[in-house]
Amino acid sequence: MQDFSFYNPTRIEFGAGKISSLAQLVPANARVLVLFGGESARRTGTLDEVTTALGGREVQLFGGIEPNPSFETLMEAVAVVRNNDLDFLLAVGGGSVIDGTKFVAAAALFEGDAWEILLNGGQNIARALPFGSVLTLPATGSEMNKGSVITRKALQAKLPFMSERVFPRFSVLDPVKTYTLPTRQVANGVVDAFVHVMEQYLTYPAQAPVQDRFAEGLLQTLIEIGPKALAEPEDYQTRASLMWTATLALNGLIGAGVPQDWASHMLGHELTALHGLDHAQTLAIVLPEMLRQRKATKLGKLVQYAERVWNIREGSEDDKAEAAIEHTRAFFESVGVKTRLGDYRLNAEHIDGIIDSLQRHGMVALGEHGDVTPEHCRQILLASL
Ligand code: NAP
Ligand code: FE
Repeated sequence: MQDFSFYNPTRIEFGAGKISSLAQLVPANARVLVLFGGESARRTGTLDEVTTALGGREVQLFGGIEPNPSFETLMEAVAVVRNNDLDFLLAVGGGSVIDGTKFVAAAALFEGDAWEILLNGGQNIARALPFGSVLTLPATGSEMNKGSVITRKALQAKLPFMSERVFPRFSVLDPVKTYTLPTRQVANGVVDAFVHVMEQYLTYPAQAPVQDRFAEGLLQTLIEIGPKALAEPEDYQTRASLMWTATLALNGLIGAGVPQDWASHMLGHELTALHGLDHAQTLAIVLPEMLRQRKATKLGKLVQYAERVWNIREGSEDDKAEAAIEHTRAFFESVGVKTRLGDYRLNAEHIDGIIDSLQRHGMVALGEHGDVTPEHCRQILLASL
């Protein structure tokens, strides 16, 4: 086990009907901005439930936060916060709305050009407004972590930042709120959560057996419940398990004391920024070939993953690693997320632009050893065609 510092102050209120607890969770004298996405929050009635629970407080609404939330839209929300002296934010939505709210919370109190927050990775955030979330899409873990990913459309840049100042104060997780999700978003959530676990598990052995067992348990749970969550959208217990699994996949717990990779996410962000693919679609394309490209340095963990998660017992170490990679790809395909660039109408001609963009964003030494170069990423994309 490596040394670590673990801190997670987010309260979770989990269960059907828990939106009513906003009445206690949000300070009674708060001046609140409720942030949401396109129209799902309004259409599904969630927004009404939220405003009812907030009764008696000054509440303003800010809708229109897009998937892969944009700096441009979020700066409009910052202006609303500043012009109206609002002091508490409430995100109602999926990872995009929560990530966007984290940015608004920090940017509203930031002196200078708020894009600097992204260029600096969040280390320059001195303070942020308090905020909570009502999660409607299990996927990112943003409801219980300090990370956020923001897109600046004008620059075709999608960059992450992290800060302990942007942990949500609380997050309300009501599995019933996920019933209205389109199949594509449920599948995306399963894949995103799966890859979050892999980025913290599939590195090199670190003598952290409990972390390995946690990670393997989350992966096996996703394999078990993913298809059921798709087939039976209103099965409460399945949706409850999916929701909590996705939160646990990226709330810091399984990443404590172990090496972390994140190369698939960083390369995936470029695919979204340039070509608009859903976040999880990019991961489903990149992860299998990322694992294959780095098989030599990851072999110990690949074999462990093959044996413990997929129950692959036959063959050489290399055979097991290969079989595990193909099982991973087949799992993504089985929940309906395609794993080839060609499936998204991208071809070899697009690869140079993606690699240029990766370099421009300084993503030149990725992975748990910092040895994944743009040239490796080019090979990974070529193998993913
Ligand atoms: P999302 O972009 O928040 O939402 C995707 C779509 O789902 C939206 O069109 C939204 O519609 C719809 N939706 C959400 N809840 C719904 C519901 N209950 N019923 C019907 N439709 C619903 O998806 P996401 O996968 O959660 O977030 C992806 C973003 O998170 C990406 O930018 C990704 O890079 C980032 N991310 C962050 C972290 C982190 O740790 N912070 C980790 C991984 C990924 P409306 O717009 O109409 O509401
Ligand atoms: Fe992710």
